[in-house]
Amino acid sequence: MDGLLVILSLFLAVTGATRVSYEGYRVLEVFPTEDATVHFLHDLYEEEYLNIDFWSEPRGVFSPIIFHVNPIRYDWVTAQLDAEGIKYTIIVENLQSMIDAETERLSSRDPTTQAIEDFADYHRFDEMMSWITNITTSRCGGNRCSLFNVGTSFEGRSIRGIKIGTPGTDKRAVWVDCGIHAREWIAPATCTYFIWRLSQDYDSDAETRRLVDTYDWYIQPVVNPDGYEYTWDVDRLWRKTRSNYNDILGCIGTDGNRNYDSFWGSDLGGASNDPCSNTYHGPSVFSEPECAAQRDFMTPLRDSFIALWTMHSRGQWMLHPWGNYDIPENEAELDQVGQAIVDAIFEVHGVTYIHGQSAVLLYPTQGSSNDWAYAPRGHEGGDGLGIEYAYTPELRPDPNGEDAWLLPPEQIRPVGEECWAGLKAMVREIESIGLPP
Ligand SMILES: [Zn+2]
Repeated sequence: MDGLLVILSLFLAVTGATRVSYEGYRVLEVFPTEDATVHFLHDLYEEEYLNIDFWSEPRGVFSPIIFHVNPIRYDWVTAQLDAEGIKYTIIVENLQSMIDAETERLSSRDPTTQAIEDFADYHRFDEMMSWITNITTSRCGGNRCSLFNVGTSFEGRSIRGIKIGTPGTDKRAVWVDCGIHAREWIAPATCTYFIWRLSQDYDSDAETRRLVDTYDWYIQPVVNPDGYEYTWDVDRLWRKTRSNYNDILGCIGTDGNRNYDSFWGSDLGGASNDPCSNTYHGPSVFSEPECAAQRDFMTPLRDSFIALWTMHSRGQWMLHPWGNYDIPENEAELDQVGQAIVDAIFEVHGVTYIHGQSAVLLYPTQGSSNDWAYAPRGHEGGDGLGIEYAYTPELRPDPNGEDAWLLPPEQIRPVGEECWAGLKAMVREIESIGLPP
């Protein structure tokens, strides 16, 4: 790189004035029918320096493997696939054109007339924070809503959530959070949908009224606001936080969902100690202020929680612990409740979600917030919250969907509707089993 380019890129890095371009990036899909294909792609996945972004980890035969490749590596990657006799399909010719279409749509949006409760498009972090503030004053008679402050992000954003529940003593609670992975925009949008239903339907719907009278609902729409805002301004496909530990290669950010105290940094796989990796687990457990803030806010409340959802996209899964291959102690109940959730989701728009243990259905993880929330106190993997029904919903699209994190806004409301049905069904099913102590 010559001197002028260095100066230019430093200037852009400082001003943040440019957007990361995916011009010429192609998205490829391989449908493996042999283990050898999966192993070969998994080897590519582990070569961080190749910068092939796998949209999900290669995990087994008969399950599509989707990844995007930058134009510089394209010929090399396809030559490797050809040499191995691995067939692939180009499902997106130019990733940037998808991002451009979304940017154009969003830039023509008027945030002053398009309310969040229209569920017509995605919204900035500040819009969501103002909106939950308005909800507490305008939609929640009888002091049913209040804001809570989880903490402050690495870049200094105040991270808030909303608690919805009729005042009472010794109430049990449900926790829902969204947006720990920055690019998964449908998750925060779905959190706002839950907030809307819980606050709006109290007077008109008997079941909602009962849920709000019986439980306190803690909903945190955006766990990782720095990353989320970065996806709007700079890099639409950013996943991590924006913390900076002065890595010698200049790599920024930690995968927040690998930073919790549950088998953190173990050699089970599923997280990386390379700061440039998309699954970097951070320099220490709870190094990320966003994750530590959740720990500090949630820990005093842990005996109240009956269930937790930490929302992601994509793949249409309803995942429960563990992220490794240990069998969860209440596996039968987790499966029973998981089945009730996916049945209720299917009823609404006929969309199939699959429930099960995350390591078995997808791939092993460590340091995930779901495992930490589930782990009993003093668990060998880490000191958790002991929430017996802890799920990670992976929202639309399905694993084949080339929209991935750029889910069309027409789907925000349907996703909200089906997940709201799933959330209510979860509570009913837990009640039928008996609330955890
Ligand atoms: Zn995610």
